[in-house]
Amino acid sequence: MTAHAPRRSLRSPADLVAAGLATPQARDTLDAVAAHYAIAITPEMAELIAPGDPGDPIARQFLPTDAELVTTPDERADPIGDARHSPIKGLVHRYPDRVLLKPTHACPVYCRFCFRREMVGPGGEALDAAELAAALDYVRARPAIREVILSGGDPLVLSARRIGEIVAAIDTIEHVDVVRLHSRVPLVDPGRIDDAMVAALNTRKALFVVLHANHAREFTPAGRAACARLVGAGIPMLSQSVLLRGVNDDVATLEALLRSFLACRIKPYYLHHPDLAPGTAGFRLGIEEGQRLVRQLRGRLSGLAQPLYVLDIPGGHGKVPVGPGYLRDGGVEDPGGTLHEIDR
Ligand code: SF4
Repeated sequence: MTAHAPRRSLRSPADLVAAGLATPQARDTLDAVAAHYAIAITPEMAELIAPGDPGDPIARQFLPTDAELVTTPDERADPIGDARHSPIKGLVHRYPDRVLLKPTHACPVYCRFCFRREMVGPGGEALDAAELAAALDYVRARPAIREVILSGGDPLVLSARRIGEIVAAIDTIEHVDVVRLHSRVPLVDPGRIDDAMVAALNTRKALFVVLHANHAREFTPAGRAACARLVGAGIPMLSQSVLLRGVNDDVATLEALLRSFLACRIKPYYLHHPDLAPGTAGFRLGIEEGQRLVRQLRGRLSGLAQPLYVLDIPGGHGKVPVGPGYLRDGGVEDPGGTLHEIDR
């Protein structure tokens, strides 16, 4: 817990020092980080952070550090290659049947490992009315597009009125069946999930909210209640998490996270291998280590709780599952690694 729980989001090194989450001596370093990457921590998340503990998993996700000032040779500004698949501003069309629509680049919190960290921020580009209309016209003109994924930034930082307008516009496109919203808001800024926001998400389409969370401690009572409001309104929820060194890179922490999703009626969906975003080397672990963790999860949690472990191939070549294989030498391995012969 912070010494004094802030009443508003912390958005600068000065805010972090005032809240007791950074020392005055760290100001110069933090100013250098802030010159390049956005900072925001909501009161709900700031309150969870243990001051003076750099290993705190909530602090690691949201508090800037000097490690961000070092970019390794393999890191890229656009690690998953959005730009090469963007035919029009604010829209990414990587697969034939779906598009990513990014109406805003603002977020309620700025994650220190974000794969779009070079794009997101309060000054990041947002679509104006004409640009949004052009993006929707692009979708309208292509019957092969069956799904629109609202991302960003975090689309739920928009007002309920704006979200409602976007959802209603997509509702009029007959060939779109599915709308997906990717968001951290229900947990990091739960007060935004009010009656107006829930009403704004009411559509004839199959609308899913995909909640991003990486540690069980993010599930505060208010956050759980916000998820319950969405699910209670008939909105199915899925999860996505990033496997992060020092946040959730052990099996007990991952198990607790996945159980937290399920307890909120949120089906675990994706576990992302961390991307090669600039200044994020301290968060990355090897794929073999990730596979070992995923294998252990299989022995501890039911199939309902298992996410798909995926990697975005650098350069824009898309997402692939990289979970461990269980077939080997004419047999199958159980979660403990013992091989059993199978007769087919
Ligand atoms: S909420 Fe998503 S888009 Fe925003 S900083 Fe975090 S990971 Fe990046």
